[in-house]
Amino acid sequence: MDWGSLGFGYVKTDYRFVSNYKDGKWDEGVLTEDDTVTISESAGVLQYAQTCFEGLKAYRTQDGHVVCFRPDMNAERMANSARRLEMPVFPEDRFVDAVKKVVKANLKFVPPYGSGATLYLRPYMFGSNPVIGVKPATEFQFRIFATPVGPYFKGGIKPITLRVPDFDRAAPRGTGHVKAGLNYAMSLHAIVDAHNQGYNENLYLDSATRTKVEETGGANVIFVTKDNKIVTPKSNSILPSITRRSLMYVAKEYLGLEAQEREIYIDEVKDFKECALCGTAAVLSPVGKIVDHGKEYNFGMEKPGEITQKLYDTLTGIQMGRLKAPDGWLFVVE
Ligand SMILES: *Cc1c(COP(=O)(O)O)cnc(C)c1O
Repeated sequence: MDWGSLGFGYVKTDYRFVSNYKDGKWDEGVLTEDDTVTISESAGVLQYAQTCFEGLKAYRTQDGHVVCFRPDMNAERMANSARRLEMPVFPEDRFVDAVKKVVKANLKFVPPYGSGATLYLRPYMFGSNPVIGVKPATEFQFRIFATPVGPYFKGGIKPITLRVPDFDRAAPRGTGHVKAGLNYAMSLHAIVDAHNQGYNENLYLDSATRTKVEETGGANVIFVTKDNKIVTPKSNSILPSITRRSLMYVAKEYLGLEAQEREIYIDEVKDFKECALCGTAAVLSPVGKIVDHGKEYNFGMEKPGEITQKLYDTLTGIQMGRLKAPDGWLFVVE
């Protein structure tokens, strides 16, 4: 495997985990080599998009172990997504166990330490039996597959450009806080439009007042104030990023910075000196510029801000075993 040339795409690996829910209970589940899914033409997921997912990574650490980063947090978040979408919860301890099994069965796909590549894990669940009247499915499938992914930024970290779109991502009492496929389906038009206009991502505002910053289609946002405080938007319609929550902890406990979750108005953005997106895929992507209908907020397109770089180095240092991790953050698989 040429680890350096891997992108962020699907590569088939040897084993995936599958468990089925029927008659009110989950079966014990198996590892299988079958990478296909056969379901009814009227399955709940196909008709009414009854599905949710997660994303996390396994890494090879400096001392040669293979670890997963906080899979218990993904298990908890998927349980919340399932409840909001009227799906049965896959037990959190069994979720973590299944993640470990999939990594162990695909060890040869865990990229070497220092390659910048990682093994991405995709747990997901969907309604599998026929529904035609609008109601929740009664049978479900839970799966986890693994795919090796390359370094998010090839040839160094480069700041990106965001625009404030005329589209909304999440309603105030909708599903923005859960990891539902439907949130992504409706973001596809906005992202294609952003790319066509020359922007990397959409920075969504709260849909009720369109005055407050929320997040992008697939990543939370953090800002650094002129006096080096980390601030991140607080809202019920933002997806609670595990990377963002980890970074806020790292800012306080490792870097001694103040870190605060609060409402952030788009008008305030001019007062910040750094901005970055955070999520599992890239960990932290520096934002160089935000464009809001002719107004521009500049943070520097040349390189990541100083605090952004420190946060990135510290969190990736923890993930790769170069820095001591807080208790319970790394789950050792091997
Ligand atoms: C998955 C996701 C994130 C990032 O969450 P992580 O747990 O850090 O990977 C942020 N925003 C949205 C909308 C997401 O779906």
